[in-house]
Amino acid sequence: MIAPATIARVALDLPLPELFDYALSADSPICPGDWVIVPWGRSRRVGLVAALADSTTVPPDRLRVLDERLPGMPRMPAHWLELIGFGSRYYHAGFGELALPAVPKLLRTVPGARSRGSAVVRARERFAADLPKPTEGIDHPDGERVLTSGQAEALSQIQSCTGHAVFLLHGITGSGKTEVYFRWLAALLAHDQAAQALVLVPEIALTPQFAQRIRERFPMLPLAILHSDMPDAERAAHWLAAAEGRARIVLGTRLAVLVPLPALVAVVVDEEHDASFKQQEGARYSARDLAIALAARRGLPIVLGSATPSLESWHAARRGRYRLVSLRERASGASLPLVQRMALRGARLQHGLTDPAIAAINETVARGEQALIFLNRRGYAPVLNCGACGWLSRCDQCDAYRVMHKVPHRVTHQATQQVGAATPVRPASSKSESPRSQADATPSASPQRYRLVCHHCGADQPVPRSCPECGNVDLAGLGRGTQRLEEGLQSLFPSARIGRLDRDVARRRGAAQQMLDAAHAGEVDLLVGTQMLAKGHDFRRLTLVVVVDADAALFAADFRAPERLFATLMQVAGRAGRHHAASRVLIQTRFPEHPVFVALAAHNFDRFAADQLTEREQASLPPFVHQALLTVQARSADDTIAFLADARHRLLSADTDPPIPDTVLAALTVCDPVPMPLAQMRGLARAQMLVESPSRPALHAALGPWLAALRAQRHAARWQLVVDPLEI
Ligand code: ADP
Ligand code: ZN
Ligand code: ZN
Repeated sequence: MIAPATIARVALDLPLPELFDYALSADSPICPGDWVIVPWGRSRRVGLVAALADSTTVPPDRLRVLDERLPGMPRMPAHWLELIGFGSRYYHAGFGELALPAVPKLLRTVPGARSRGSAVVRARERFAADLPKPTEGIDHPDGERVLTSGQAEALSQIQSCTGHAVFLLHGITGSGKTEVYFRWLAALLAHDQAAQALVLVPEIALTPQFAQRIRERFPMLPLAILHSDMPDAERAAHWLAAAEGRARIVLGTRLAVLVPLPALVAVVVDEEHDASFKQQEGARYSARDLAIALAARRGLPIVLGSATPSLESWHAARRGRYRLVSLRERASGASLPLVQRMALRGARLQHGLTDPAIAAINETVARGEQALIFLNRRGYAPVLNCGACGWLSRCDQCDAYRVMHKVPHRVTHQATQQVGAATPVRPASSKSESPRSQADATPSASPQRYRLVCHHCGADQPVPRSCPECGNVDLAGLGRGTQRLEEGLQSLFPSARIGRLDRDVARRRGAAQQMLDAAHAGEVDLLVGTQMLAKGHDFRRLTLVVVVDADAALFAADFRAPERLFATLMQVAGRAGRHHAASRVLIQTRFPEHPVFVALAAHNFDRFAADQLTEREQASLPPFVHQALLTVQARSADDTIAFLADARHRLLSADTDPPIPDTVLAALTVCDPVPMPLAQMRGLARAQMLVESPSRPALHAALGPWLAALRAQRHAARWQLVVDPLEI
């Protein structure tokens, strides 16, 4: 007989690494994975039993008894607990920090006056009401569409595998990757009447259209959708349906990887290269990498799809760890757009556009087709400037400029309630423009209101009436964001119907969808916008893409900047000509010979990736080394650097318990502490220090004891460790 376990180790929703021990009565039915209510100080909290133990370091007089289950909640399965355990070890995060935020809050709150039990019941009923009526067959007639030979080949490669494998589906834009996912899932889901599939997309904005495609294709299969921008009750309903096996397809953003799926058979990660898969707060996990870990642990196949795979994945495929599957033709038979580089140096510009770009837009609109004008910078102008003394609209809380924004008409009444409402400001053009375009840029007759907004801390103030430094009233916005581009386009093409999409537009509920619907319905001639327009959309009449200015990204300090720029531009370019024979992409740049643009013009991802990987190998950068980044925020820059210098010393002198072995230390490179690229944010100084190693086990062997030592120090500085950081 094994002695009954008497201690429950409970995870709570706290940013702390530890589990909390509670005593169980001898005959307690409580098991690992159970949701419980624990006494906590004078109140009670919901927790998750991570494990049982037969001893604890908590003194007997302080050990409290746990005997209350949270009603209605399903027990979390062992495979899920293992995945969370793996994730918390790998990312050096608390078990509770990873596990609890993954579960909708509504389902894990202490029952109050309004019974929580019924909230769970309501959540169950709610999803059931959305279910399609059961009929024969799961696949839609659309499934009869003939696959291209590339798709057929890709599908058979993926289907040839049983058990765990990672497929990297590299398909050019418009090659029909989605069709390959759907065929694959259709076969698996038809084969087993209970089977579930998980599909991850990088952004909330991509879920509606992907959900639509899934519903059209699998009208009979219950679909659960999960992202962080859903009403609580709806999210709870969908989560329960997924966790209880009632949903057959689960579509979601990164948090969906942490839903326990009892009958999971396959995983798809679409746009696998996208940095949005990395969690930005709390436990900094990569949902793509956890999805791979999940598939590996459960012995399942996983497909990672992208037109521009991450160099990590590409490298893994090159080395045979992943299986590379390629789609090299567009499914519709359309050819790829002609990509042309337009030199900005010495060119005449009107509203930031070269003459050939303006001519191309004119021709496109005249043919009744659509053009997408891409500028990855929202707002009106990136900075407000005093022409007299050179004052710039710096944020006093951040190491950044406050961005000039035009206040939309519909919220103007709110702006006027602020003290010192803004006066109209003359929007100046950037210096590179000709006198003629300066004249074009004078403000429109209707008085616009502008505000200064910091994109980092959210500070939002009216534009000052006069320069805070010298009192000059002639303040002007420098440079151009999407709002100003939209205005410029309207004056260049007065009869064109223009639709803008960026995060400012998307903030109004439904506005983004409205704009996309209008674009799909052909009610928009010119689409103006940021990245948001680039991802995933399939505009049938779109034949021209103009990239207004992407040069800033070429000079970012981050070694991943070229990779990201290439992916973004490839994706934007990929919106063009998906259904027409002839389409063009015009890239305006001061550096037409830059390798990123040369590779884009040649549509040559393989070449670009090979060159980048060579550079990375020579410079000992990922994927050839593994990194962890220690970041810290404190009152002063000196404090941040002092904290990191001390942490560095601790690591190098192995002043930890247990001590870090010399062999492990020998495999590490510990860089010097440096201020972060955004050295101040929200009034706090920020600094970082990189620790890297060609050996992942060595890196992790050092991180564990080192972090424990840092935690024990109880430092005033707020610090955070990011494993596999994407931004450095
Ligand atoms: P990707 O995700 O690879 O960019 P999509 O999956 O969006 O591409 O497919 C691009 C377009 O091609 C879509 O309109 C899709 O309906 C169409 N398509 C996909 N497969 C086929 C096929 N076998 N025959 C005809 N059209 C197809
Ligand atoms: Zn001034
Ligand atoms: Zn700020």
